[in-house]
Amino acid sequence: MILENYRHIEGIKNDIAEKCGRRGEDIRILPVSKKKTAEDIMELYNAGIKSFGENYVQELLEKKAVLPDDIEWEMIGHLQSNKVRMIAPFIHRIHSVDSLSLADKIDKEAAKCGRRIPVLIEVNAGGEETKFGVGPSDAVSFAMEIVKRPNIRLDGFMTSAPPVDDPSENRDVFAKMKQIMIDTNSKLTDNYKVSVLSMGMSEDFEEAIRQGSTVIRVGTKIFGKRIYQ
Ligand SMILES: *Cc1c(COP(=O)(O)O)cnc(C)c1O
Repeated sequence: MILENYRHIEGIKNDIAEKCGRRGEDIRILPVSKKKTAEDIMELYNAGIKSFGENYVQELLEKKAVLPDDIEWEMIGHLQSNKVRMIAPFIHRIHSVDSLSLADKIDKEAAKCGRRIPVLIEVNAGGEETKFGVGPSDAVSFAMEIVKRPNIRLDGFMTSAPPVDDPSENRDVFAKMKQIMIDTNSKLTDNYKVSVLSMGMSEDFEEAIRQGSTVIRVGTKIFGKRIYQ
């Protein structure tokens, strides 16, 4: 069932891409496995899907311990500086950089591991008070600070759009993200450009793709509803 769900989302993704003149292969699905089991993940892994998004460091470490070593884990949840050390040796990408102090910590821990860690800047593009992320008007200058850190590789930006009844209401939020990326690239040198836009979840990934998303983070529509204790 999980694999069928994944294939279903993949089909929709490729259709929308084609309709808006993009290539389906330029948009990646990141299955979000938070609150789901190692067995659930294996159902996709056995079909060759090797990237997963997790929100909580402890849960990520527990799953990593029992799952194949070649899984590429991406941290999409809010990250506390004191937990960076635990994921720095292996994390494939951190989507949620939202402060310079967190960036400094990642830079320092990456250096200790002899790595350059790929990151995205989380932008609170919908301006919600309850959400983490840098404000949209600060995003470009924040990016110019992040790229100074030698052991971080800035790949682009991430956002979680506000919950809305009709996903088209988030069109401007997603379009703003695309513009932030364009504006950032216009200030960067030719040998350092950003190209990743992590945006779109179960309820709004279609609109996100139309507005330029390159990574959609889909949990519920692949793994089913999450149960929180
Ligand atoms: C949980 C989560 C998702 C997936 O949300 P769904 O609505 O279940 O697809 C995506 N991104 C982030 C940051 C999340 O926390």
